[in-house]
Amino acid sequence: MAADSEDSPRQARLFVETPLQEAAIVELDPDRAHYLRHVLRLGNGDAVTLFNGADGEWRATIEAAGKRGGRLSVSTQIRTQESEPDLWLVFAPIKRARIDFIAEKATELGVAALVPVFTRYTAMTRVNVERLRANAIEAAEQTERLSVPEVREPVTLEKLLQDWPGERRLLMADESGAGQPIAVSLGGLDAAAKRQPWAVLIGPEGGFHRDELDLLRNLDFVTAVGLGPRILRADTAALAALSCWQALVGDWERPTPRLALDYKRRDAKER
Ligand code: SAH
Repeated sequence: MAADSEDSPRQARLFVETPLQEAAIVELDPDRAHYLRHVLRLGNGDAVTLFNGADGEWRATIEAAGKRGGRLSVSTQIRTQESEPDLWLVFAPIKRARIDFIAEKATELGVAALVPVFTRYTAMTRVNVERLRANAIEAAEQTERLSVPEVREPVTLEKLLQDWPGERRLLMADESGAGQPIAVSLGGLDAAAKRQPWAVLIGPEGGFHRDELDLLRNLDFVTAVGLGPRILRADTAALAALSCWQALVGDWERPTPRLALDYKRRDAKER
């Protein structure tokens, strides 16, 4: 059964790294072909949709999918490209399952980049960037985004702040209680501040060191905010802060594009 039949609104969506246009042929490596056949249970002639972060979303048909790889033929564009708000998540890496959770959920919440940062009390010493990227791709496919967040190589907090692009505001989740409540801070921004690029900074499970708190609070691009009276785990804090930012500054005033697509489909049928 084709995956885009009427009773399954969830399209089989794939992120690809090739240009998308009418009649383009997209070659799939054996892993992606395997994913189509054995995870999505699709075969020759079935429809999928494709996006590459630049050319919007396209309908395509599976021409071949086997052990050695696969081939898709691209037909029509169904959405034009749109970008996510310019929001980074800067976070201290945490244990495997929780860092996977952060990559997946932050992608769903529309971040443009994931930036792992080593702070004084960060327990992890390494980050598997490839794994984070794979998680981000899968989440982007499922969440109907048209782009995959960039996953940066980890840096130390000092280096990050040294190289910080001055026009980008940094919303620091400050567990010490010294910051204003997040909704007060973000709710009070003027239109120009809302249009600036932003980043959310979340500390490690061990929290920020006192020196780090002092350093951060004295930088003019940093806004320290509180996330309420409870101490949240780092992954919860990340999602809470991203959600508040999206609701108050980001693009949550927009509906999902699905509604518009459904109407288009219905209109086409009635004609
Ligand atoms: N061990 C620390 C807590 C660290 S929680 C302590 O006991 O103080 C991990 C990170 O989540 C923090 O560094 C902060 O960035 C964020 N966070 C958690 N709860 C928060 C809150 N209530 N307000 C603001 N940030 C919070």
